[in-house]
Amino acid sequence: MRGFTTTIVHADRLNAIEHGSLHKPIHANVAYGYADARDLAAVFQGRQRGYSYGRQINPTVEALEHKISEMEAGVASVCFATGMGAIGTLLFSLLKAGDHFVSSSFLFGNTNSLFNSFAAHGVDVTFVDATDAREVGNAITPRTRLVFVETIANPRTQVTDLAAIGRLCREHGLVYVVDNTMTSPYLFRPVDVDASLVVNSLTKYIGGHGNVLGGALTEVGNFDWSAFPNIDPTYRSGDARLWGLTQVKKKGLRDFGAAMSPESAHHVAIGAETLALRLERQCANSMALATLLAEREEVRKVYYPGLTDHPEYDRAKALFRHPGALLSFELDSSIDVFEFLNRLQVIVKSSNLGDNRTLAIPVAHTIYYEMGAQRRASMGIDDSLIRISVGIEDIDDLVADLEMALEGSRSR
Ligand SMILES: *Cc1c(COP(=O)(O)O)cnc(C)c1O
Repeated sequence: MRGFTTTIVHADRLNAIEHGSLHKPIHANVAYGYADARDLAAVFQGRQRGYSYGRQINPTVEALEHKISEMEAGVASVCFATGMGAIGTLLFSLLKAGDHFVSSSFLFGNTNSLFNSFAAHGVDVTFVDATDAREVGNAITPRTRLVFVETIANPRTQVTDLAAIGRLCREHGLVYVVDNTMTSPYLFRPVDVDASLVVNSLTKYIGGHGNVLGGALTEVGNFDWSAFPNIDPTYRSGDARLWGLTQVKKKGLRDFGAAMSPESAHHVAIGAETLALRLERQCANSMALATLLAEREEVRKVYYPGLTDHPEYDRAKALFRHPGALLSFELDSSIDVFEFLNRLQVIVKSSNLGDNRTLAIPVAHTIYYEMGAQRRASMGIDDSLIRISVGIEDIDDLVADLEMALEGSRSR
C-alpha cells in the first residue's frame, strides 16, 4: 500500500493513457460510437463495460472517480457537478415519500435548506445534536432509513460522535452517510467509523484552489444493500455492496442530471495532487492563528478543535490526522465586526472555504442571514462570529494581518 500522495499522483499513469500521457486527457465528448450494434446494446444493458452517454459516464470524470475511491479507501465513486448535486441526487435516488432520516443539526447551511425541501416532498427529517450518539438513537423510528452527519461542523466546529453513530447505524441496519468535506480523506476516512456512503464537496479542499465546483459520493463497502427496501429490482444484481451507488449513478444521475463536466474533473484532479501538502500547511497555520486569537483580549471566544478547551478536543485528536483548517471566533462586544474585517489586508472577505487563500466572513450577516435571529441563536451563531478558512500563506503575514486589525479595533 503506497502513501496518500504517491497514490494520487500516479493514479492516471497506472491506467495506461494513450501516448504515455501523464495526465488523463480532457475527453470533451458526449456520445460514443460502436462498430457492432450488439456491443452498443450490451453496454446499455449493463452486460458489457463501456460508455453510453455523457450524463452518466465520461473517461476524464471516471479517472477522477477512481482517484477519489483510492483516497477514501472505497470500492467505487460517482462524481457530480457540485457537492449539493451529490447530496441531492443521493437522497432523491435512495429515499421515498414516507421514509424518515436523521440528520445532524450542525449542518452546512445549503444542506439544511435542501433537507427541508425534501421534507416538503414527503421525506421527513429529524435534526439532532450529533455530537452525542444518544440523540441520534432517540430519533430513530421504524421508518428511518438513513443517518446523515458531517465530520466537523461549519462554522462552530462541533465534532460529530462519528464512531458511536457508526455502531448505532450498524445495529439498526441504517445507511450511514458521512459528509467528509471539512476534513477530506487526508485528515479522516469515514470507512474507519463504519460509514456506508461518503460525501465530498470537491469544490473545497480536494479541488483546493477555488476555481472549480464538484462533488463526489463514495461507496466504502460496509453496507449490505440487499437488506435495503428501496433498491429497484433492475439494480439488484451483482455485488450487493454496490447496489446503492449503482442506483444513484444509473437512475439518479440519469433522472437528475447533475453531471460533472470533463473540464471540471481535470481541474479537480490537478488540485487533488497537492491535497496533503496544502492541508499540512493549512492545519499548521490554523493552529497558530487559533492560539493567537485565544490569547487576545479583543476576542471573546475561539472555536477550533485543536484547542484543549474545545468540548470535543479529545475526539478530534483520536479521529483526525489534524484538527482541520477552519476556525471561528467571537469578537468582544465593543468591537464593530465590519470595521474589524475592513482592516484586514491579506485575509480576504469572502464566502467559500478550502481555498489556498485565507478567507474571512461575518457569519450571521451573510450565509446564516436568511435563517433569522431565532434559528441562529439556537445554533449558537453570535452576531460577532467570524469564520476563517485558513489558507497556505506564510504564517507571519497572517499573524501580522490579524494583530494589526485587532490593535486597530482596540484604539477606538
Ligand atoms: C460546500 C459544502 C457542500 C456543498 O458543496 P458545493 O460544491 O458548494 O455544492 C456540502 N457539504 C459541506 C460540508 C460543504 O462545506
